[in-house]
Amino acid sequence: MRYAVGVDVGSTQTKALLLDESGTIVARSLIDTGAYLVRAAERSLEAALAEAGVSRNDVGYAIGTGYGRFKVAFGDDQVTEISCHAKGAWSLFPKTRTVIDIGGQDTKAIKVSDRGEVLDFAMNDKCAAGSGRFLSNSAEALGLDVSEIGARSLDAKTPVRLSTVCTIFVETDILSYLASGKKTEDILAGVHGAIGARTIALVRRVGAEPEITFTGGVARNVGMVRAVQEKLGLEVNVSPDSHYTGALGAAVFALERMTAAAQVLA
Ligand code: ADP
Repeated sequence: MRYAVGVDVGSTQTKALLLDESGTIVARSLIDTGAYLVRAAERSLEAALAEAGVSRNDVGYAIGTGYGRFKVAFGDDQVTEISCHAKGAWSLFPKTRTVIDIGGQDTKAIKVSDRGEVLDFAMNDKCAAGSGRFLSNSAEALGLDVSEIGARSLDAKTPVRLSTVCTIFVETDILSYLASGKKTEDILAGVHGAIGARTIALVRRVGAEPEITFTGGVARNVGMVRAVQEKLGLEVNVSPDSHYTGALGAAVFALERMTAAAQVLA
């Protein structure tokens, strides 16, 4: 058995995913990217191979994606994260026509064809405003873990109105709300609502055609899922594999190339 590998070296976290020849996911790994991208790619591959009990010699084709895709030293090729999120979201939910990807440092809205190809996209990447980093900094300012804040935001009764989505100024904003006696959940609802509004403005640039699939690490945040759905007035698809969508898309491209090469050799 040969395996197709996708490795998504993100600004915050590196994800690796293995597909077998039938296209079934056999392993995933997730690690913090840190400062050394080549090492992050290597470690994430090793972790996924170990989980599957697969040797490196069994890897038929590997594709790197994400901001550090050129650092995937063992990769046979690189594909942009926009193409990989489109492909990954489409393979999880074949009726996907719009992808919302919120990662650590940027947000993307992608219009997708019925074959998972990119038709158009819009992106906020000038700074990390309104992205996962903004959520992580907000969590830190409130002494919470980023994995807890979404659920907590759902308990809000009177959400605050944030004056900024800047990752640097949000801390000051949060501290002044705390000093004035605002509840943590109300502050968090303000944080999630502000990112939701900013995300929807981006989605409108490509058009919000259903089905809409929410991908990236931030799709694991139930508060963000709700904020996005409320602002859109539409349901969105969220997979338990949302965080791995880019790596999955890369692995699907790898599998297509591996299969095409095998057919040529046959
Ligand atoms: P990148 O590809 O840029 O590294 P990711 O798609 O991996 O970004 O998303 C990273 C973001 O995902 C973090 O900034 C954080 O906000 C969010 N995140 C990561 N893990 C969790 C979790 N367990 N629960 C909720 N949000 C999470």
